[in-house]
Amino acid sequence: MRKKLLRRTKVLELLHKNSADYLSGQELSKQLGVSRTSIWKYINYFKEAGYKIESSSKLGYRLVESADILLPEEIDLGLDTEFMGQNIIQYDEVDSTNQLAKEQAENNAKEGTVVIAEKQVAAKGRVGRKFSSPKGGIWLSCILRPDLKPVLATRATYLSSLALAKTIAELTNLDPKIKWPNDVLLNGAKVSGILTEMGAELDQINYLIVGLGINANIDKKNLPVEVQDRATTLYHELGQKIDRIKFVQYLLKFIEESYRQINDFNALLEEWKKYAYTIGKKVVVSSARNKISGIAIDIAEDGALILEVDGQEKKVYSGDVSLRHQN
Ligand code: ATP
Repeated sequence: MRKKLLRRTKVLELLHKNSADYLSGQELSKQLGVSRTSIWKYINYFKEAGYKIESSSKLGYRLVESADILLPEEIDLGLDTEFMGQNIIQYDEVDSTNQLAKEQAENNAKEGTVVIAEKQVAAKGRVGRKFSSPKGGIWLSCILRPDLKPVLATRATYLSSLALAKTIAELTNLDPKIKWPNDVLLNGAKVSGILTEMGAELDQINYLIVGLGINANIDKKNLPVEVQDRATTLYHELGQKIDRIKFVQYLLKFIEESYRQINDFNALLEEWKKYAYTIGKKVVVSSARNKISGIAIDIAEDGALILEVDGQEKKVYSGDVSLRHQN
């Protein structure tokens, strides 16, 4: 299933495997079938990225410590996907990964291309709201090209929130919940926001950008004061840092798995509902134009939230959900 490892990734793999000892330049060049000068360049690439690698002209190279960054080669090493994340573009600091992914998509980047950054300085949530993205988080945007009508684009938000909740459930003992339409919560506080954006013709999606912002290894006090009471981080919930590389590997795998079900939305929804926070609860959904109160009873096949309002069913397509006092 996996594509052949790129040479740079292969070098990293060998360095990891042999970290107890030195790996000679000669051995590396033999295993990879490239010159020792090329090996030296590969090693320098990792050093410049912040990896601590001891070099000795006699003994060769030894990996002392990896850098705490989401390096594509590192993600690639344990990535079990066919297309999701097979092309990863990584930055230290960006305005917004969604914006960069959009540019990539406009330039015909392949489906599954991922833009990832250590920090975003101008990230946006829905309706242009600021999304704080300090160092330590996971800020990534995926390019999808589903064969779907634009009205069904919200399916991407469902499949990615599901994938994210599954990743948290798989890698931690936490109990993630999804608040309709786009937030993943831990103990009632938001740990992640998801923003799906679209490039489309009237009747056909050209591309979708699914941006996921995850408060991973962030101290809660490094989030803006005004969101601290509603937000949380994995670090805050767990009391320890997570392996961000592993997290991204699982997340991309689960996104790919759920994406395969995009045309069988009912099956996807059934799984999604296991994590639903909103369903069964009394809610108020507010949008710029109005406010509707009711009981959230289900999700429709078109992704709408179905509310029971005065004994009648009403579909809501977007808005902010707040829970009413449950009694
Ligand atoms: P809400 O989170 O209020 O339900 P929303 O779903 O529309 O709103 P998003 O589009 O996901 O929100 O993101 C924007 C909002 O998220 C901001 O208005 C702010 O309240 C909150 N926020 C910003 N940065 C973070 C963060 N790193 N973690 C959690 N919440 C954040």
